[in-house]
Amino acid sequence: MKSKSASTNGTRTLTPEEIARRADVKIPPLLLPKPASVFADRALRLRQQAAGHAMRDYLMLLAVICEAQHELLQNHPQVPLPDDEQVAAARENSTPLLATGQWQRDPAWRAQLQLLLAQVLEKLPADSPARDGIQRVRDLPVETLEQQAERLLAGITLGLDMATAPLIAAGLQLYWTHLAAATAVSNPGAWHIPFEPNRCPCCGSLPAVSITRIRGKLEGQRYLVCSLCSSQWHFMRVKCTHCSSLESIRFRSLQPIEQQELGDKRAVIEAETCDKCQHYLKTMHMDLDPQIEPMADDLASLTLDLLTSDAGYIRYGNNLLLLFGENQPQVEEA
Ligand SMILES: [Zn+2]
Ligand SMILES: [Zn+2]
Repeated sequence: MKSKSASTNGTRTLTPEEIARRADVKIPPLLLPKPASVFADRALRLRQQAAGHAMRDYLMLLAVICEAQHELLQNHPQVPLPDDEQVAAARENSTPLLATGQWQRDPAWRAQLQLLLAQVLEKLPADSPARDGIQRVRDLPVETLEQQAERLLAGITLGLDMATAPLIAAGLQLYWTHLAAATAVSNPGAWHIPFEPNRCPCCGSLPAVSITRIRGKLEGQRYLVCSLCSSQWHFMRVKCTHCSSLESIRFRSLQPIEQQELGDKRAVIEAETCDKCQHYLKTMHMDLDPQIEPMADDLASLTLDLLTSDAGYIRYGNNLLLLFGENQPQVEEA
């Protein structure tokens, strides 16, 4: 007989059998992006989610962008990867190896962004309203583009052009996803992973969302998904990703309250809110929908963000493909 998980106040806890079964399973702390599928899966899911969606046009545009990211990632030009000295320094200082604030971006990222934008323009209908913004990014002087990239990576919204930021972000995602995946091949032991960090252990970016995974030793484990390099790292369930508190965690979803109170009839996507620090992060359950693609499903579930922020919670983490000024971390301009 299949044992059911206990549930208190909508909080799923593991049964004793589940805990015993997992005690001797080594859980990988880091799952690096797979170049063959990371952007292709995202594009496919965006197309699925776009059908009949209120944000249809935007999701379709992002699907075209992710298809271009996928194609360019397959033949990414060689760029410098972390050397032994950088690996040692990151380990010693306990900083992410590819930290966005320190890593010297290779100019190849801009060339790849230009190819990406050209490819997107080719696929878009002649009357697409997105064309102007894309052309605007193509025409940006190098210094302005680098300045915008700098702000985007640092979470500084002051002076950031919010309309074109997702396009620049797509280029940065392509570059950092390549860096993470290529480093995983060239130097698999390079990563230093602190215990359950609340920022990406590869690049130091905020998570976009978290997912509970399925299959084998990952079954039921929660991973946070990097908004930039698409790496995933292990993080305990029912723990605030912003302040690490284990108390005052609650879950909200778009399901009617009566259904939420039934406990194990959970919604596929929930907002995990913390009453201690008033932040939240979405969490998605693959056992309820194995097709979940974290970034795409995050964009398609914007209504849950609106509901949760109406209730007074601030989103921890971001989705670089859809930015809102007030959801960015508060960073003073240097
Ligand atoms: Zn990352
Ligand atoms: Zn908290």
